[in-house]
Amino acid sequence: MRITFLGTGTSVGVPSVGCECATCISDDPRDKRLRTSVLVEHQDRNILIDASTDFRQQALRIGLKHIAAILFTHSHADHCFGLDDARPIMFRDGAIPVFATDVTWQGLRRIYAYAFDPSPYPGVPQIETHRIEGDFELFGLNVIPLTVIHGQLPVTAFRIGDFAYVTDCNLIPEETCARLMGLDLLVIDALRFKKHPTHMTLDQSLDYVERLKPRRALLTHISHDIKHAETSDHLPENVEIAYDGLAVEV
Ligand SMILES: [Zn+2]
Ligand SMILES: [Zn+2]
Ligand SMILES: [Zn+2]
Repeated sequence: MRITFLGTGTSVGVPSVGCECATCISDDPRDKRLRTSVLVEHQDRNILIDASTDFRQQALRIGLKHIAAILFTHSHADHCFGLDDARPIMFRDGAIPVFATDVTWQGLRRIYAYAFDPSPYPGVPQIETHRIEGDFELFGLNVIPLTVIHGQLPVTAFRIGDFAYVTDCNLIPEETCARLMGLDLLVIDALRFKKHPTHMTLDQSLDYVERLKPRRALLTHISHDIKHAETSDHLPENVEIAYDGLAVEV
């Protein structure tokens, strides 16, 4: 399984429009962060986790031609506004299987109401809906959906084999922690240094890493408060800040 980081930035992206802070004006390519999403490649199948606001640019950047399935963590704009831009793939390959929980489907159906219209306008996104209720099999992979807490909203984290993707949360419930043990790679939300009502601070993420003990942890959904090179110097040995374009074999 190969994991490619299509985007590692918080909801507004980095640089942030109009900002001239050290990170936003940095010329380190690792400080340029599109909105958060990863691509999981397994036996020639592409599984997209979230279709970010920057999906089009992300897909063009890596020459993405097909998507076998999309898994959604939740329906916040930065995670799902790119679904419409997957239409060229839908026009060629037909409807894309999309997996989400009931809560996330409520949001997706509202945002993409035009795609679910009984007599849709020609050219709308073609979506094959799948409801996440528990563990499921996808192209030979065992996908374990787990609940994490994002302020008031339950968000879906995914464990696939020894890889787990845990974005957009400020709390990981006990029962989810129990299922995140023994990981080879943990990808985890680490927004900034200062406390935030719906995201982890860097210290909170590091506490979870210490507790869950993955072999390797990569931080994502990062704001401009965190400058890649400076902050990287102070991280434990098994923790790194992810960056756009980083690809990891699991
Ligand atoms: Zn987000
Ligand atoms: Zn900035
Ligand atoms: Zn969110």
